[in-house]
Amino acid sequence: MYKYTKITASVGPKSESHTVLTKMVRAGANLFRINFSHDTGDTQGKKIDTIRTVARELKTPVAVIVDLQGPKHRIGNFATEEKYKLTIGQRFIFDSDETPGDNTRVCLPHPDVIASLRAGDRILLDDGKLEMRVDRAEPTKIIATVVRGSEISSRRGFNLPDTYVDTPVLTDKDKADLEYAIKKKPDYVAVSFVQSADDIAYVRDFITARTAHKIKIIAKIERPHAVHDIDNIVLAADGIMIARGDLAVEMPYEQVPAISRHIIRLCRQMNKPVIVATQMLASLVDSEFPTRAEISDVANASYLRADSCMTSEETTVGVNPVHTIETMARILKYADMDGIANPHDWRQLDHLPENNWSRSVASMAYLNNASAIIVFDKDGVPTTEISCRRPDMPIIAVCNDETVANHLCLSRGVSSIFDEEIFGRRDAESAAKAMGIKIGAVVIVDDGTISLREL
Ligand code: PGA
Ligand code: MN
Repeated sequence: MYKYTKITASVGPKSESHTVLTKMVRAGANLFRINFSHDTGDTQGKKIDTIRTVARELKTPVAVIVDLQGPKHRIGNFATEEKYKLTIGQRFIFDSDETPGDNTRVCLPHPDVIASLRAGDRILLDDGKLEMRVDRAEPTKIIATVVRGSEISSRRGFNLPDTYVDTPVLTDKDKADLEYAIKKKPDYVAVSFVQSADDIAYVRDFITARTAHKIKIIAKIERPHAVHDIDNIVLAADGIMIARGDLAVEMPYEQVPAISRHIIRLCRQMNKPVIVATQMLASLVDSEFPTRAEISDVANASYLRADSCMTSEETTVGVNPVHTIETMARILKYADMDGIANPHDWRQLDHLPENNWSRSVASMAYLNNASAIIVFDKDGVPTTEISCRRPDMPIIAVCNDETVANHLCLSRGVSSIFDEEIFGRRDAESAAKAMGIKIGAVVIVDDGTISLREL
């Protein structure tokens, strides 16, 4: 069975070894996410090196995504590591004073946040378990009231769903991490807590000023401001990650499925790959069986025809990362096949004039019952556009550039091959054979020309 929906696997202590990474690729992982929220520098660089070695040994393209922490804010320390009791309705102060906190105040070591908060804004701490509301904002302190929750402790992360924080999208740590990562030539950089399309332009300038290597940019959608500016962000970025973890804290969680569905459709229309992320198989962190809800969540990403599903803790610290990928691949394959056998929407979508060319490729393949679409692709553009029409048959992209083959790991239904010889000879037979495609009609795309052939 052919797996259309790609798997992005986060790499951590339980999955960074050569053996586990190899097994994860064999089990169906197409891209690996290196999360710079945790380690930095050479610890992360070593993971990238191991992934490159594994891909070379298995002779298969695998993409590396470097995920930057971004402006994730945390409160300062309390006098002890204990939890401090709070009562609903009490006043609590966030200030710039580094003295350890108590149950009336704590340091907020982010002057840009203090300057951005306004009366009435919500402050959510500890993944939303604790909620406060700003009563008064002063130049160096915020006076708030506890609305929900009962305890607070050192270094809790906080989210500000109502506030546009006037802060650069790359922190000093992100810049150092990115400087380092660029030297390792990742295929993608994922940018956290994006608030506008300008943030993407800023990161792109940062990268192009330092390297000529083609590094694609994924915008992580996890702030309400990003949701509101989604059209411009999709246009500016090369790909999108629906970061449901933080998104479900910053937005009412009941809206997250609708937002996800909307973003997936938009990305398809605008020819940008999209990843659905976070807690997809969360129970596999310490169990062998996914919950029924998780199975449906993974299948639903396939039915919505996202490009990729992502694992997080399941493969970084979970008991069995390889089993997690096998489980996800099994659910995806079945849903991918079912979605094709019982289609409901593919021809109704994408009626934008700029998609006419790729739509005619997909229609030609569909109407002629082709077993595959084979694209000879220099830069990844035609394959990405055809993939975004979701033609429901394997797309084989033959590339003469290894980075392009890696980028296409993210695109739904695409098997990319990096082979200069097959590319040079425009050898459709070898390409189809390499991918195990049955002989039959295929649609061949080469530099804008489309033809139908029997293999
Ligand atoms: P994170 O991003 O794991 O880096 O926080 C994903 C999310 O917020 O869902
Ligand atoms: Mn996040």
